[in-house]
Amino acid sequence: MEQHIERSLVLLKPDAINRGLVGEILHRFERTGLKIIGLKMVWSDKDTAMKHYTEDLAKRRGEKVRELMINMITSGPIVAIAIEGVEAIEVVRKMAGDTEPKKAAPGTIRGDYAHVSYGYADKNEIGVFNLIHASSSAEEGVQEINVWFNDFELQDYRPDYIKHTIAKHE
Ligand code: ADP
Repeated sequence: MEQHIERSLVLLKPDAINRGLVGEILHRFERTGLKIIGLKMVWSDKDTAMKHYTEDLAKRRGEKVRELMINMITSGPIVAIAIEGVEAIEVVRKMAGDTEPKKAAPGTIRGDYAHVSYGYADKNEIGVFNLIHASSSAEEGVQEINVWFNDFELQDYRPDYIKHTIAKHE
């Protein structure tokens, strides 16, 4: 891959679909000039969910959170988006905002469209509703895109806007 170009896996979780926020969220990514290279709606089975929410999540957040998240992500359809762009991992995480919506800054997806806290989620034994998942490292981006997409579902193209957003004019 070109220098500084990274790939991030974004999932619009069931709460985003249920609230009709697919277009709103997609629009935010598109207008930054990040390139959508894969896009689909899926209803995940448990195996795929377990490959996404790995043991690593249990180590960081506890087995209970992993179990809740696997249940949440398989509870309804989700939209998987593969995104490519300059340092896309950091940019997409910045746009997503803090994991806990209560802390997420206004202007971020989680800060603008969600508000709940860990305390509330834990008390009610649910995964915190924060609308989206976004990969947290370049390695994780590649690996997570592999979990959700086949190679033939990823498109290699160069939209016109690329030359105005990331490349020198040709
Ligand atoms: P992120 O999605 O921001 O990368 P993590 O990978 O640490 O965050 O956690 C995965 C998901 O698990 C979060 O997006 C959130 O929905 C949920 N989650 C994390 N911690 C908690 C918690 N203490 N209680 C409920 N849900 C949680």
